[in-house]
Formats: sequence, structure tokens, C-alpha cells
Amino acid sequence: MIRSHVFGVRFRKEFDHSMLSRQAGMDRYVHNRLLEIFRDEYRRCGTADTSLHRINTWYTDLRNETGPEWMRQSVSDMTRQILYDLGRHYGQYIETEHTKAAGMGPRVRWGEPHFKRRGDRISIPLKITHDNTHGDARFTGERTVRIAKMGEIRLSRPFPVPNYRPKSARLYQTSDGKWRIAISCEEPDPEPYAGEPVLVGVDRNIGNVATPDHIIVPPYKMVRRMRNAERTAGRAQRIASRRQKPDRTRRKPGSKRWARAQRRAARNRRRAADIRHTTSHKISRVIADTATHVAVENINTQNMTKSAKGTKEKPGRRVAQKSGLNRSITEQCWGLLVTLLAYKLAGGVIRVPAAYTSQRCPACGFTDALNRDCREFLCLLCWNHSHADRNAARNIEDTGARMLGRPCRRGSIPSPLHECPAIPAGGAHVKGRLDVEGSGMVSPQKRQASTGGVRPSGTVMLYHDV
Ligand SMILES: [Zn+2]
Repeated sequence: MIRSHVFGVRFRKEFDHSMLSRQAGMDRYVHNRLLEIFRDEYRRCGTADTSLHRINTWYTDLRNETGPEWMRQSVSDMTRQILYDLGRHYGQYIETEHTKAAGMGPRVRWGEPHFKRRGDRISIPLKITHDNTHGDARFTGERTVRIAKMGEIRLSRPFPVPNYRPKSARLYQTSDGKWRIAISCEEPDPEPYAGEPVLVGVDRNIGNVATPDHIIVPPYKMVRRMRNAERTAGRAQRIASRRQKPDRTRRKPGSKRWARAQRRAARNRRRAADIRHTTSHKISRVIADTATHVAVENINTQNMTKSAKGTKEKPGRRVAQKSGLNRSITEQCWGLLVTLLAYKLAGGVIRVPAAYTSQRCPACGFTDALNRDCREFLCLLCWNHSHADRNAARNIEDTGARMLGRPCRRGSIPSPLHECPAIPAGGAHVKGRLDVEGSGMVSPQKRQASTGGVRPSGTVMLYHDV
């Protein structure tokens, strides 16, 4: 299994930054030269030779004979990697075009590669080997890496984990100007889980994540901090729009005040993203501590967050509301949560169909839209009653269990609220960092209805006063 690990980077004093930008400049130069050749060839003959052999001979010729003098100073291994990547990308682009021309839908659509411009973000590929004998980057210590011709960098945390075999790395700059290094390693495949699976259903909502036992809410402080960062980013972006922007056609750089506003926007966007990431990590940790397998709804966030804008002839309605909803859906990071769960769990993630999970009564199977009323779930047939999100999580869990070929852990027996399991012992681990809601949020009337077995005489409307 190949996995990538990202580290923060600190440059040692002796690090040659000029070499770094020179390398980036050279990479850009050869990248654009080769792209020009590919484009020309493709326009003329309908195909282009993107083989490694061709790229290698072209580059060697350029470097030794026709290319400019300063090119000989670059680290050629790094440059070659960039050209290989370009070759592969262009090959995929041609294949996409051919499939489209044949009237078939390509599986993945590859656009034509762009020319790199000065000022684009720098990303430099590095070769790094586990035995440290060759390659243009080498480990010199637990958290130091020496890069050929440039100098030493320090990683934000120690790297060498005995079983990891580093293969390649990429030194790059994020949008807010910070440097990172991503080291991809070959790791031993995880052992398939052999024990008895413990399955937990997970319902992802806006503002919380629910399991049949509890509701996990990110602390308000964290949410507020993220919103603040986003607001600051938006404000800085508006300020930047009123400053002197760079003019590419007249090759004029933007003003310093524009750059400052731009940096501020990028920094705050990154901050917000970091908070979302941390939150997802913490939520997935709570769940992974109590389960070996997780069942989630198979939802397509991309379709759910399509804009309501419509077309010019047929404009959509309530566009602003929909865009607000879209924002709150995307900031929940539903996909990220599943990714994180997948590697934290001993078992794995099961995706179940999403239909009717919030409307179905797990006790008697009665399914109706009226069963659900805001945050409350009340079955109109058997008066089984619980928190709506936990109910959905339980339905997801039951479906997942059936898909695993296991009996439902909670069976089809109604689970009255007063018998809900308490917060697990893992809660201590989480203390002070996440609020784990138990079976609160129940009105006295409802508790009576579900425990006393007395059917309320009114309708569901009764429960609006929660
Ligand atoms: Zn029911």
C-alpha cells in the first residue's frame, strides 16, 4: 500500500533558496518547451509521442547541445520527473479526446495541460530511497532531510517509522506561502480484521454526527473560530479586489497592498480548513474507539451541493439560500470523515443506500415522512420514539449489518429512550475536546409517551414545544 505523509518544513540557515527558485524556473522552462512540442504535434497529426524514451532523448539533447548554458546547473533528476508527469498527463489528455471522438464517455476527463507561469506555485519532485544511498533527497537524521545542491530541511515531526519505505517526495508551497513536503511511502498492507466485527451506524448531518448511541457535536468555540477565519478571508478578498492587481498582458506585478491582502485571505482560508480537518479527526477518533466497522449513507455530496443558479433563460429561485445550505454542507467535510474513519478503523467502512433512513421506524419498519419532525422521531404506528439523527444512524447500522451478513446488534426490538447505552468509557479520552451528547433533548411528554406506553391523544404537533 502506498500512502503519502505530509510534513511542515523549516529551512536550515545554510539552505540555498536561490537554488530552489532557480530549479523551479528551469523546470518551468523545459515544461513549457516540451508542452509546446506536444501541442504542435497533436494539432498537426492528431497524436503525440509522449513515451519516456522520447522525453529522455529530447531532454538530453536540450541539456547538452541546444539548451541555454544555465540549464546545466539544474538537478536533472528533478526536471526529468516533471517532464515524465507532463508526458503522462498529455497522453491521458489525448486518450480522453480520442474516446470522446469515438462517441464514448471517458471514465475520467483530462483537460489539456497548461503552460506554467512565473509566480505559479512551486512544486518540486524529489527522489528519496529507503536505504538512503541515492536519490536527490536523503534522510540525515530522524527529522532532517538533505536535498541535493540546496541544503538541509527540518521536518515538523520525526519521520522514520521502521516499516515505511519512502519512495518519492514532493516539496511544495501552499497557497498561504508555507512550505510542505509530502513523502510517499510503501507500507505493509494492513492485516484484514479477523475478530468479531462491532458495527456502528453513522449519520452525518449539518452541525453534528450521530451514532445510535450518541450525538457528536463539535465544540461551539471551534465552529466560531472557523467562521471567524472564513469571514476574515472573505473581507481580505474584497479588499484585494480594490487594490492594484497584477497585469499579465503588460507584465506588471500587482501592488504590495494587493499582495498583502491576498496573503491575508489565503492564510485565513487555510486556518479555516485546518480547523475543519482537526474537527473531522476528533469526531472520527470518537467513533473509531467504539467500533471496528462503520456504516455510512452512500451520498453524493457533489450532487447535493449543486448551485440553484439555473440558466440565463431559466434562472433558479432562492439561489442565495441554496448557496448558504451548500456552504454548510461542504463545511461539514462528510467525505473527509469517511476517509479518516477508513484508516482509523480496524475493519472498514460500509456504504449503505441512503433512502428513507430518517423516515423508517427501526422497531416496526413503518416508513413515513411524518414520522420525523425536526429533531424528533416518533413512529406513527408503534409510538417508538427517539432523536431523529440517532434513529437514522440506527437504520443505517441495521442495513449495514444486513450487508455484512450479521444480525442487527440492536435487533428489531424497540429501544426505549431510558435504556439507551451511556457514553462509552472512551469518552474520557475525548473529555474537554468534544461534546458527546447522550440521550438528552427529550421533552417530558415524550418520555412519558415512550416509557409509560400511554399513547398521546394529540397529533405529532404536540411535540413542537420541545
Ligand atoms: Zn414503529
